[in-house]
Amino acid sequence: LPTLVAIDGPAGSGKSSVSRAAARRLGFAYLDTGAAYRALAWLALDRNTDSSQADAVTALLKDFDYSIGTDPDEYFVTVGETDVTDAIRSPEVSAAVSAVARVPEVRGALTELFRSLAANVDRPGVVVEGRDITTIVAPEAEVRILLTASEEARMTRRSAEITTQSAETVAEQLRSRDRADSQVVDFMSAADGVITVDSTHLDFEQTIEAVIDV
Ligand code: C5P
Repeated sequence: LPTLVAIDGPAGSGKSSVSRAAARRLGFAYLDTGAAYRALAWLALDRNTDSSQADAVTALLKDFDYSIGTDPDEYFVTVGETDVTDAIRSPEVSAAVSAVARVPEVRGALTELFRSLAANVDRPGVVVEGRDITTIVAPEAEVRILLTASEEARMTRRSAEITTQSAETVAEQLRSRDRADSQVVDFMSAADGVITVDSTHLDFEQTIEAVIDV
């Protein structure tokens, strides 16, 4: 089985870019798990399904034909024939995703999917990134990291990435998503055996190095 590196953390912690860069340097695959929750939220919006209706969201799993690129240099996300790589980053999807991720049947199905994707990569290892990887998806992972940063640092980074909305709007949306998500999974504190990397005072390169050191 490939070596598993599990990385959890809140939005804006730099998780995705750091995990991808670390995977590249290690010659490992990279699995972004948030993309699957986002793709299911995208499908709900596409089908005019109310994301707050757990049964309706669960029914979408039946024909959720999802695929994701795990090569850190060839990232893509598709649902059926549709490339949703960019669409799943829209403010509408970000606003709907927590409701989708709260449904137990969704978490169960996607957890199974992540385990199978991680076990079948064609690299010696895989960096799996999300909210519950160190605790639920792969608690037995060889390396388990919680990537944190102060709220201020996270808000500043995310608003620099999203230029179509004001910094206040971005911060408010991020805060409300973190609030909703932490009711489902605790990704703000490190579980037993999980190593915390605090990137508040680290730049991108230093954060990658800190992760590689672990
Ligand atoms: O990582 P990202 O911010 O793209 O994740 C999008 C959403 O997917 C999160 O806000 C959360 O609701 C959900 N998620 C989750 N468990 C994971 C990864 C993401 O519930 N392992």
